[in-house]
Amino acid sequence: MSTTATTPPTPSAPPAPNAAVQAFLSGGPKKLYIGGKWADSQKGKTFKAMNPATGQALAEVQEADAADVDAAVKAAREAFDKGPWPKMNPGERAKILWKIADLIEKNFDELAELETLNNGKPINEARRGDLPLVIENFRYWAGWPTKIMGETYPTTTPYAPKLKAFAYTVKEPVGVVAAIIPWNFPLQMAAWKIAPALACGCVVILKPAEQTPLSALRLAQIIEEAGVPPGVFQVVNGAADTGRALVKHAGVDKVSFTGSTEVGKEIIKDSIGNLKRVSLELGGKSPQIIFADADLDVAMKSAYMGIFYNQGQLCCAGSRIFVEKPAYEELAAKIADRAKKVKLGPGIDPKTQMGPLVSEEQLARVQKYVEIGKSEGAKLMAGGDRPAGDLGKGYFMNPTVFTDVKDTMRIAQEEIFGPVAALMPFESMDEVVSRSNASQYGLAAGVWTKDVKKAFRAAEALRCGMVWINTFNLADVTMPWGGVKSSGWGRETGHEAIRLYTEVKTVWVDLN
Ligand code: NAD
Repeated sequence: MSTTATTPPTPSAPPAPNAAVQAFLSGGPKKLYIGGKWADSQKGKTFKAMNPATGQALAEVQEADAADVDAAVKAAREAFDKGPWPKMNPGERAKILWKIADLIEKNFDELAELETLNNGKPINEARRGDLPLVIENFRYWAGWPTKIMGETYPTTTPYAPKLKAFAYTVKEPVGVVAAIIPWNFPLQMAAWKIAPALACGCVVILKPAEQTPLSALRLAQIIEEAGVPPGVFQVVNGAADTGRALVKHAGVDKVSFTGSTEVGKEIIKDSIGNLKRVSLELGGKSPQIIFADADLDVAMKSAYMGIFYNQGQLCCAGSRIFVEKPAYEELAAKIADRAKKVKLGPGIDPKTQMGPLVSEEQLARVQKYVEIGKSEGAKLMAGGDRPAGDLGKGYFMNPTVFTDVKDTMRIAQEEIFGPVAALMPFESMDEVVSRSNASQYGLAAGVWTKDVKKAFRAAEALRCGMVWINTFNLADVTMPWGGVKSSGWGRETGHEAIRLYTEVKTVWVDLN
């Protein structure tokens, strides 16, 4: 924003970021965080973190290449192999995780604004959703170090019937974790990996998305302040090559990845060298199924948010909206009408309901899919274009609603990852379940009906990792998150995530 002391801001100008954000942004190039120190890239490479609402740079960021990644892995190995973190009294680890949550809470406004500026999301969503969930995530995992335990087993050993054995398991940290994350919920995606990995006694190297490194770097300062020892948590900024260097590195024991299915497949191949553990939270093309007996107002509002929240940049985006025939025309008209009325603007403006897409590249991707939808014969009911005026400088896209979509169209098959809804009518439960399941993805699904039997039957028949009934996109740190088929391997959040960051060791003691 350019205002001077003599020129008061115009009523439409968004508010300036708070002083802490301005101080963070103006504090010189953002560095790598390696071995407890803030470091420049060894080759002096940098890139720019952008403000997608204006198309202008927010900060210069140091970029890690293979040599920097190697330095981070060496520091991580030392921190893991020599301690103290993995061997630390679990109660002490718990206190540090709790302190991270307290410090995030203390810096709530700064982090919410930084997230909004770099990602584009409306500040109200960052304040109501992202930040509280991140804080809760660290608090939840602060409760776990004291409760991660093995089991004792009654053994039979038919080949040695007289053997009296005491047999037990322990859960040990998996080791050095490379956490590679996308840009759509930068702090949340980081927290989903860092908090459980640290709780389990692992050490973590985080690679934020190249589009949104800023909140991760501020979080690293907080983690340092909370007393996490050097090398236990590190940040390497960069794009695909930085990620590849981590995935291929023999000193990394585990890759925890969230991102596209395409990159997930590359990661499987690149991790083969030392057979490192891999967990994958990947893309989706989730169905939202609205039966005609549902409360249609609730279904419409919920389905609308299911596709347009966070500018549609949701892994679980309910991008295929199936509506039972008698309700189809009414629902389609209402969703399109709502989409036409949304207030687009810079995320930092509290009046904004929908911000820009994260990058010029993402905008081009969404525009390409709109053209594909039109050329495939889908009917454009709302959006499809960009807002005029000042917003044209940012990566804004009007929320887009297509009807008359066929299952075979690319807009019904491929993940767009933007504000584009594809509406389709259906006639029966069997038909809609089979059409919903006819996708390479299996992340999530939503079902709206007042008939409880119908809801349970649909939940059972849908092949996906998560089903919401009469709602969509609810998430909580206690509940597992993840998908089947090409939507990934493993479950994040909730106690299921302990499996991702521990190995089971079996111990036998002969008591004869
Ligand atoms: P992306 O796959 O392009 O990038 C994700 C991360 O991987 C980035 O940090 C990127 O720099 C890095 N990367 C890219 N190529 C790499 C390689 N070859 N090796 C190692 N790292 C590499 O995804 P994106 O565009 O950042 O995010 C959008 C995707 O993320 C969508 O497909 C979305 O569905 C998915 N996503 C899934 C979940 C989930 O929980 N299932 C959550 C959020 C986003």
